[in-house]
Amino acid sequence: MLTNISAYVQEIGRAGRADSQAQAIMFYNGNDLAFKQMQANMKEYCKNNDKCKTEVVNEHFGFYKFDKPTICCNICKPDMSLEWEFSQLSISDPVGQQQ
Ligand SMILES: [Zn+2]
Repeated sequence: MLTNISAYVQEIGRAGRADSQAQAIMFYNGNDLAFKQMQANMKEYCKNNDKCKTEVVNEHFGFYKFDKPTICCNICKPDMSLEWEFSQLSISDPVGQQQ
């Protein structure tokens, strides 16, 4: 469970090792127990809808001047956002039990 920005950055950093590109998608639910156990900075990161996510992470670590990556985040490039309607999501075919 990721409870703070430092732990989150460590996890997303693993995705992009060896100069390979990676994409991080975070799912959270404000009513979930995991969300309630997060530190304030991680809750703010999750709820943030207006500030570049790269800026938030860098500022957390004290970096205020940095080169933004070409492909940054859903705030810098809104068409990267994913809108999921979970009420329409059906998990009726568990992995390994396809018919
Ligand atoms: Zn950004």
